[in-house]
Amino acid sequence: MSAKLIDGAALAKQLLAELGERVAALRARGCQPGLAVVLVGDNPASAVYVRSKQRACEAAGLNGRDIRLPATLAQDELVAVIDRLNADAAVHGILVQLPLPPHIDAARVLQRIAFAKDVDGFNWRNLGALVDGHPTLVPCTPAGSMLLLERSGVPIAGKHAVVLGRSTIVGKPAALLLIERHATVTLCHSRTPDLTVHTRAADILICAVGRPRMVTADMVKPGAAVIDVGINRLPDGKLCGDVDFEAVAEKAGWITPVPGGVGPMTVAMVVSNAVAAAEKSLAAL
Ligand code: NDP
Repeated sequence: MSAKLIDGAALAKQLLAELGERVAALRARGCQPGLAVVLVGDNPASAVYVRSKQRACEAAGLNGRDIRLPATLAQDELVAVIDRLNADAAVHGILVQLPLPPHIDAARVLQRIAFAKDVDGFNWRNLGALVDGHPTLVPCTPAGSMLLLERSGVPIAGKHAVVLGRSTIVGKPAALLLIERHATVTLCHSRTPDLTVHTRAADILICAVGRPRMVTADMVKPGAAVIDVGINRLPDGKLCGDVDFEAVAEKAGWITPVPGGVGPMTVAMVVSNAVAAAEKSLAAL
């Protein structure tokens, strides 16, 4: 492979160590940062994500609070849990693991989280701040993707970035963050005709589609930085990204693997947002 491998696991470990120093500084000022992770139901994939977030909290010295609730929980009961966490001074960050059971209105629950504790960055006030060029708590996956680019020395300003996918969780905020760093951005989605015309022009290509190995080598500009956000499970149980890794790695300048790329960085950014929220709560006193 000729591309430089962007090792998300190693960069996430480094970030957690740096966050550990900020947590120690907060503790010295009498503030123990706390992150509450709420899991409703027993979706095994969600349980794995929650465990990885708890482990990251431990690694950085945060107080992780694990709140497990039954799948039959009524919407109002979940809202009441959020309200209690909003009012709890020992909790600086709140994360509700998605997906929620179908009888619960996820948007209503997510918007109930106080914007100052919204470590996922999905609160409309935080998203609005990002649109207005004043990022506060930024969605973790795109924020982690940006850090992977920056720490790998990928030039961003003045470059052409193409984002595949327009979700609120990944694609849209990724485009906004790239604009903030002075990239020229094209956002593609399922109605974009001739995707390859766009992807081939990309110096930076962010793939957040959810289709296994959809991005093939002929779609990539030689030397491009390719960030593969996709997590897809193949029929044999193995994970793969949205990018045909082996072939694209021969053509790209930088590439993230799946697993071990964006995933660990996303988890570390949850902790990063919780630490930032704790720091801000002290500053507000
Ligand atoms: P969504 O399903 O919400 O969005 C997918 C986007 O891809 C949509 O905008 C859709 O377009 C677009 N799309 C679908 N098919 C095509 C196509 N053939 N050509 C171009 N665009 C297409 O997914 P998410 O954004 O939530 O997640 C995307 C992927 O990233 C998933 O694999 C998910 O598992 C993974 N993920 C990984 C994370 C991590 O930590 N690594 C975190 C979050 C997600 P349209 O809007 O027109 O339907």
